[in-house]
Order: sequence, then structure tokens, then C-alpha cells
Amino acid sequence: MRIILFGPPGSGKGTQAKLLCQRLNLAHISTGDILREAIQRQTPAGLEAKPYVVSGQLVPDELVNRLVADRFRRSDRPERFILDGYPRTRAQAVALNEVLGEQALDLDATVLLKVSDDEIVRRLGRRWICPVCQTPYTAPGQCTQGHGALTQRDDDQEETVRRRLAIYHQNMVELDAYYRDKGLMKDVDGVGDIETVYQRILEVLRAKA
Ligand code: AMP
Repeated sequence: MRIILFGPPGSGKGTQAKLLCQRLNLAHISTGDILREAIQRQTPAGLEAKPYVVSGQLVPDELVNRLVADRFRRSDRPERFILDGYPRTRAQAVALNEVLGEQALDLDATVLLKVSDDEIVRRLGRRWICPVCQTPYTAPGQCTQGHGALTQRDDDQEETVRRRLAIYHQNMVELDAYYRDKGLMKDVDGVGDIETVYQRILEVLRAKA
């Protein structure tokens, strides 16, 4: 199974991607995670990406495309995977199409998690994260894995969230058209508890298989 998961920031996309990966044994490729790790390790790519990530802007296509293409061109490239947070622009979709074509890896489906902007702003205001294991929580406190105090991401401030949502919608118009034209795009209602949304995703993937 090779899937792209789309959805606004805070739609539960990351959580659903992790569940799908665990249960269907897929590699989880999240450009947000790749970028945050590069920033933490202060690699050249991380230093270049940092100002964009911190202010909630998109990192330039060329940099993100390079990081993703590197993953697929390695000898241990993923065969079955979920892409989460990538592609974010039409130019990224075109670059991805090229690298997947070159590697003979066809996509099975693209899934669009639908959640309204107001619901997203409410959710992200309540999002707390363990800075060590990245587990999300809905209230401040300590990580249950013993990693210490939870923090809020810099890019979860309301103003930044609204800016990220505006960018998301702007780019999603072209991405939606791109993958709908290929017959790959499946809509899923993203409002509900984690297990309910997960079952909805499985349904559209089964219908596809
Ligand atoms: P995420 O965790 O997916 O919400 O990503 C966090 C931040 O990383 C975004 O706000 C962007 O600054 C950056 N980022 C992640 N994926 C991409 C991408 N595909 N293209 C450009 N920037 C990205």
C-alpha cells in the first residue's frame, strides 16, 4: 500500500498516519518530522529550513524535494509507505511523481481528511507535545513516557495557525485537482474520535483495493 495523507495542520493526520503505519506495516514519511529532526541536529538543510518552519511558512520546494528524493533513492528505500505532509505544492507533487516513477512505485490512493478551520484552531490551542518523543496531549503536564514537561510548538500559536491554514487551502486547490484527475483522491470526514476516523480511512482504502 502506498498512500498520501492530506489534511490541514491539526486534522489528526499525523496520528492517523502513525496508526496506519503500525497496523498495515507501512513506513511513515513525514516531512515535518524530517525537517524538525534536521533543525534539532543543526544540519545544513535544518539551518536553511528553520526560519520557515518557526514562522509557519512553507520551506522552499527545492529543499523539501531533495530531502524526500534522498529517502526514495537510498538502497533501503521504503516500498510501502504513507506520505504525511508532502507534497504541499503542485511543484512538489510533480517532483514526487517523477521520483516515484523512476523507482517504479505507483501510488494506490490519496486520502483527504476534512476538518473545518474553526475546529482546527480550537484543537491546536489545546495541543501539547512531548519535546522528546513528540507524543501529542490535550493539556499541559508531564510526558507519560517519563520525558519531562510538555511544551507547545512555536507554530501552534493562533495567528500562525491561521496563516498555515490559509497557505494549506491555497495549495490544496491545485493538489486536489492534480490527484482527483488521476482518480486517486478519496475524501474522509476527519471529525470524530481517532478509531472512528481510522475506520473511515480503511473503508475508502478497501473500496480502492
Ligand atoms: P507539519 O508537521 O507537517 O505541520 O510541518 C511543520 C512545518 O514544516 C510546516 O509548517 C512547514 O514549515 C514545514 N514543512 C513540512 N512539510 C513541508 C513541505 N512538504 N513543504 C514545505 N514545508 C514543509
